[in-house]
Amino acid sequence: MTGPFKLSPLPYAEDALAPTISAKTIGFHYGKHHATYVKTLNALVEGTKFADMKLEEIVRATATSEDAKEKKIFNNAGQVWNHDFYWRSLSPKSGKPSGKLKAAIEEFGGEDKIIEGLAKAGTEQFGSGWAWLTSKSGKLAIEKTPNAVDPMSKGVNALLTVDVWEHAYYLDYQNERPKYLEAVLKNLLNWDFAAENLAQESHPVRAAA
Ligand code: MN
Repeated sequence: MTGPFKLSPLPYAEDALAPTISAKTIGFHYGKHHATYVKTLNALVEGTKFADMKLEEIVRATATSEDAKEKKIFNNAGQVWNHDFYWRSLSPKSGKPSGKLKAAIEEFGGEDKIIEGLAKAGTEQFGSGWAWLTSKSGKLAIEKTPNAVDPMSKGVNALLTVDVWEHAYYLDYQNERPKYLEAVLKNLLNWDFAAENLAQESHPVRAAA
């Protein structure tokens, strides 16, 4: 889909992730922060070559740009992509990993090790950013990125993400980012979404460097 971009629908009701994430937090996070990134992106790309590009193409095309306007475009396009991915990374029905994903998790050292790794990455990310579960040739890895940066723009396949910007947790957990991470990682990870992303690792759009 090319621009103008739309705010993707939330995959669940605003109160579906409560009490781990309140409806109030989702209301601001989705309805204000995420929506503003979409609106700003549309204003920035209007009349430029980016208006006819897909969101993922814009993110990759601007990720390393030194141009001031392209940096702004990257920040907003990246945040739209990351938030679409974040909402789908969470689910009120967390479930359990199965099949190829389960095998990959066991190879990594088990589900607890993934959870610990994501909690550590999210806690250690200084300032705003994201914690990610990624895969490369089917092998799982954990990474953290600052601000609007994502692994996808570097050609790395993302399986799950957790937003660690303060707006993601401040209303529910105030300054206690580790408590937010602990609750989200325990209750809300969408393992079905991770499994789909693992299966799609060879997809040309996602895998392109
Ligand atoms: Mn956010």
